[in-house]
Amino acid sequence: MNSRKVAIIGAGIGGLTAGYELSQKGYVVTVFEKEKEIGGLLSKFEMAGKNLEKTYHHIFKTDKEIISLIKELGLIDKLKWYKSSTSIYSTDKFYPFNGVIDLLKFEKLDLISKFRLGLVYLWLKFDKNWQKYKKITATDWIKKWAGKRAYEIIWKPLLKGKFHEYYNKVSMAWLWARIHTRGGSKNEKGEEVLGYLDGGFGQINNKLAKNLNVKTLCPSDISLDRATSDFDIVIDTRPIKDVDYIGAVDIVFSSKQSLSNYYWHNINDFKSPFLVMVQHTNLMGNKNYNGKNIYYLGTYVPQNHKYFKVSDKEIEKEWFDYLKKIKPEFDEKQVWEKKVFRFKNAQHIVTTNYKVPSYKVGEKTYRLNFAQIYPEDRGINFAVKEAKKLAMMIG
Ligand SMILES: Cc1cc2nc3c(=O)[nH]c(=O)nc-3n(C[C@H](O)[C@H](O)[C@H](O)COP(=O)(O)OP(=O)(O)OC[C@H]3O[C@@H](n4cnc5c(N)ncnc54)[C@H](O)[C@@H]3O)c2cc1C
Repeated sequence: MNSRKVAIIGAGIGGLTAGYELSQKGYVVTVFEKEKEIGGLLSKFEMAGKNLEKTYHHIFKTDKEIISLIKELGLIDKLKWYKSSTSIYSTDKFYPFNGVIDLLKFEKLDLISKFRLGLVYLWLKFDKNWQKYKKITATDWIKKWAGKRAYEIIWKPLLKGKFHEYYNKVSMAWLWARIHTRGGSKNEKGEEVLGYLDGGFGQINNKLAKNLNVKTLCPSDISLDRATSDFDIVIDTRPIKDVDYIGAVDIVFSSKQSLSNYYWHNINDFKSPFLVMVQHTNLMGNKNYNGKNIYYLGTYVPQNHKYFKVSDKEIEKEWFDYLKKIKPEFDEKQVWEKKVFRFKNAQHIVTTNYKVPSYKVGEKTYRLNFAQIYPEDRGINFAVKEAKKLAMMIG
């Protein structure tokens, strides 16, 4: 029986999956987490009497690794698939954006731009050869093939909203992966479906952690030196120094009011303080949430952004004021519960020179971080895939 001691720094789903896999092989695993609770970007909290993710989460039918882990952990009965719906706010109003008919009706683009945009989606969905997109920026590629107008109206607000000053440096490989891998999340009728775990994805973290020795805030930051001297193997999931990350901020609130019939809303307006509005309960219904609607307003910001310094109240004021502008019926008095969350390391920046950080960094030290996910966008499916890969590597 293998009884070698493993230390894992960080109890996100990546670290926990690696711990779970290694403990199955007989390793004795201790996980050190700097926060009060486990889960990292997928950590949970309570609202409307239910466990919710601190920031919006769903999975895709193509997310094979996480689906298989959910099965293995005995949670598959809770995984439900729901028809998704998307809307775009563009300068003055919301437009449905769910397929060819909506695209044809979308008045912000001329017919030729719509045609080119449709073809580009199809092309990226079917083209498997992502290598050729590595060295070209998403900005240049989209401008060339979908045209300048489609870039300005659809893509630039998304790229800028997500990557800020890096927006025109992001590799086309990243955008290819988003469209290519997610395009296959369809039901039998060909409609886009998204998966959600009844009771929240946090249950996965709890199940993974069950047989591991998890130490939260104890010590808050174990040094690599101490870990390497006390343990046979160390897996470090902390942010990597040579990688540029961007942060994320969101407000979650519950309200009796329903503001939309759609689940996902891209806010394509440079004046908006948030990038997306997600009416979570428009995916699975609000029956399980005491009849309340759950909303996420979210955005990505540089790590030195004022949102990491100002009070929650200031963020709420700015964001709710803007929400009233785009949804005049929004009544703040009907907001039941609200919570602001901030994440300093939410997304790595994949430029055209991106180099995947190595896994083995010392004689007995390994690295496991979502920055190793490439070209796919980081997501819980790939965090699990990477963790399993590393556990295999360790043997
Ligand atoms: C806004 C947003 C929306 C998202 N939506 C989706 C979605 O819909 N679907 C999807 O699949 N994915 C989504 N993701 C991505 C998903 O949440 C992540 O890919 C995944 O949770 C990353 O897990 P991880 O373990 O790799 O990293 P993390 O969750 O970042 O885990 C790292 C852990 O290390 C801890 N740590 C850091 N420093 C130290 C230290 N010094 N000592 C001890 N511990 C430390 C952190 O506190 C954290 O718990 C979203 C992410 C964001 C930000």
